[in-house]
Amino acid sequence: MKSAKRPADYKSSTVNADGAGMNADVIIVGGGLAGGLTALRLAQTHPEKKTLLLERGATLGGNHTWGFFESDLTAKPVQSESRATPELWMQSLISNSWNSHEVRFPKTTRVTETRYHGIRSATFHTALMQKLGRNVRLLCDVSKITASQVETSTGLVLRAPLVIDASGIKPVQQTARTFAESSCGWLKFIGFDLKLKKPHGLTRPILVDATVPQMDGFRYFVCLPWDEHRVLIEETFQSSSPELNRERISRSIRAYAERAGWEIESIERTEEGHSPLPLQNLVYDRPLESSVQFSGEDFVDQTPVSISSAYGWFHSSTSRSLPDAVRIAEFICDLPQLRTGPVRTELRDYRKQWIEQQRFYRLMNRLMFRAVEPSLRYQVLERFYGLREDLIERYFAGTSTRTDRPKILGVKPTVRPGRATKNWMQETATSGAPERTTEALDLANPYGANSTARANDSTESASVSTKSASV
Ligand SMILES: Cc1cc2nc3c(=O)[nH]c(=O)nc-3n(C[C@H](O)[C@H](O)[C@H](O)COP(=O)(O)OP(=O)(O)OC[C@H]3O[C@@H](n4cnc5c(N)ncnc54)[C@H](O)[C@@H]3O)c2cc1C
Repeated sequence: MKSAKRPADYKSSTVNADGAGMNADVIIVGGGLAGGLTALRLAQTHPEKKTLLLERGATLGGNHTWGFFESDLTAKPVQSESRATPELWMQSLISNSWNSHEVRFPKTTRVTETRYHGIRSATFHTALMQKLGRNVRLLCDVSKITASQVETSTGLVLRAPLVIDASGIKPVQQTARTFAESSCGWLKFIGFDLKLKKPHGLTRPILVDATVPQMDGFRYFVCLPWDEHRVLIEETFQSSSPELNRERISRSIRAYAERAGWEIESIERTEEGHSPLPLQNLVYDRPLESSVQFSGEDFVDQTPVSISSAYGWFHSSTSRSLPDAVRIAEFICDLPQLRTGPVRTELRDYRKQWIEQQRFYRLMNRLMFRAVEPSLRYQVLERFYGLREDLIERYFAGTSTRTDRPKILGVKPTVRPGRATKNWMQETATSGAPERTTEALDLANPYGANSTARANDSTESASVSTKSASV
């Protein structure tokens, strides 16, 4: 077994460039969803520990609306013994809660009683600033981060025994690409927070309204009623490209409001985003070098603990990261040693089970993006929403069971004749040995260096029958 040396600076206290001592027990880089939740949970469970939250922006949480089901939070991670249910410890962050929601498709409308919650960035920022106060550093851009220290772009060096990278997915290349060149699909949307002249009359969120003409993949609207005059309308796509036609979507959201009989007084806020839906393994999930894997040493690896979506911690089929961010916050806070090495090792073990689940969701993505006609993708979702409520809940929570999986795959998509079944089976064939998978997605560069090879892979040669692929 290879021995490892502790970095010389490990025990030294944190030093502030301006001379004042500034020791921290935990440093978290990135005050977005993952970093903010972990900082909050640490403050609640380890009030004696000093946690510094460093955020490059002027506020915490960016410009988001995060929605989640109450059932997203019930699945507990391995070894976790949470001292409060997530709904309770996250209560201060929640802007609105609803007791039911609905989905609308051309043939069916379904109302479900599962509670749904919304977190808006402004509430997130205010609640965290109140709780964490002086331990938040805004406008603090970190330029270098290791297992035991961070350096800001102004030259400030801060050290702590536990350093967490929660800096999120980096902006990706925006140039137009074709589907065949990409190793992921995209969930993309633009949302308008509208103030209406008269009450909208909505009593519950509409999480999917797919009764609209389909274009650019699966297209649907989301409506979240904040109060009787305010509603967030998002136009959303599951598409093979991250491009957003802002002008068209802006017109289309207004037209949607008009069709609903809602007269717009003002647009109070806009948000947009595109998140990858990986079709293959992530580069991070390739097996580690054996020296790292088997050494059991804390200090072999000089990287921080990575908890953000940039490290792939999100649901591969929905791109939602909140359930994982909550579980990881709880998981870390329940660990006996808050030091980078042990936390990284524990999280690595936790991730092994998590990856197994994500492989299934990536298979779903290959099914959607490589085997189903874009204009017919809504049919897959329509059938999916006809499944049992508890199965749908587990799917969104990222905790589908082995018996759920064939039922989900059995939604029988309309597959292009002779098209791409080989491609969407690809990762499953190597599921026990990710190192043999030729393709892997790097979230910092989702198009990857092997885009030409991937384009060639996408040629129409189907060697596995659709039937056998479906179960
Ligand atoms: C508009 C939008 C809406 C979404 N809605 C949902 C949803 O409803 N439910 C859901 O589960 N998921 C949703 N997602 C997906 C995902 O949950 C979010 O992207 C989520 O914010 C990811 O969390 P994160 O902590 O990994 O990254 P982020 O929330 O992006 O946080 C990263 C933070 O790190 C900061 N940072 C980056 N680099 C540095 C640096 N060098 N130094 C200091 N700070 C740095 C950034 O400024 C940012 O604040 C949404 C995504 C988008 C884009």
